Amino acid sequence: MNLKKLPKVELHLHLDGSVRLKTASELSHKNIVEIKDLMIAKDKCLNLKEYLTKFDLANEIMQTKDNLIRIARELVEDLKKDNVIYAEVRFAPLLHTKKGLSEEEVVEAVLLGLKDNDLKVNLILCMMRHFSLKDNLKTIELTSKYLDKGVVTIDLAGDEAKYPTKNFVPLFKIIQEKNIPFTIHAGEAAGKDSIVEVIKFKPQRIGHGVRCIEDNEVLNSIKENNITLEICPTSNIQTNIFENYSNHPIKKLYDMNILVTISVDNMTVSNINLTQEYEKLVKNFNFTFEDFKKMNINAINAAFLSDELKEKYRKIINLKTNE
Ligand SMILES: [Zn+2]
Repeated sequence: MNLKKLPKVELHLHLDGSVRLKTASELSHKNIVEIKDLMIAKDKCLNLKEYLTKFDLANEIMQTKDNLIRIARELVEDLKKDNVIYAEVRFAPLLHTKKGLSEEEVVEAVLLGLKDNDLKVNLILCMMRHFSLKDNLKTIELTSKYLDKGVVTIDLAGDEAKYPTKNFVPLFKIIQEKNIPFTIHAGEAAGKDSIVEVIKFKPQRIGHGVRCIEDNEVLNSIKENNITLEICPTSNIQTNIFENYSNHPIKKLYDMNILVTISVDNMTVSNINLTQEYEKLVKNFNFTFEDFKKMNINAINAAFLSDELKEKYRKIINLKTNE
């Protein structure tokens, strides 16, 4: 099975978690050994909070237009090498204004870097759980402004255990009123309650969502509402949600006909690309080409794309997966 050649869709990928080590070394003037230590999470962290410390250095260097453009451009190159045919990349623009860039300049620099003739990459803007209400409102405004201009949706990321989803309900009301599609990190570091809060708003997708496995009612409601899960197995093991790869519920969820998709979360912090994630899935759960095809079709169906483009990508997946 040539997993590298397989056409793949990536829906859950953080820009600041996917900065090339060599680039980080060059831009921060630190040697590569030090960089690896600062940016790659251990195979097993204590929790999500510890995993999130590995983003600090990336955020320090992602404060100028040139660096943002370069980092986004290099990520697109890496995705193309991995045979990704469509991707949605996410980041929190408000984390990148420390050296004086405006939020708009930050978004425009990243959009410029992501622009590519061969690979379509759309952008998701993240609100952060530790941000003030004012800053998250600013992110909503920013998403509105750039919606359909390269930005496709809004997300909520950060330490889910410390800042529970219920605190953000007023923000999701506003997002819904403004007709902005959204996805949200939930059911990762916090359990089913976090997912229950989110389902009320009928999101098209949930980032991770894997802890729905703890409750049948939540599972049913994910199924009934056709919610697609953006699952990142390696990251889930690192943040200690599940003990090891073979304990991960991805196969169970897939067999229950939940709309499962596969992503890597962070290429650098999790030290993995999508092909390697697929390899682990084959090794641990015997997923087949047919399964990957189904999950990539799930991903395209839940992508923030026009029906016309969805049809184009579905054709590529159907044709090339069988080659
Ligand atoms: Zn994530």
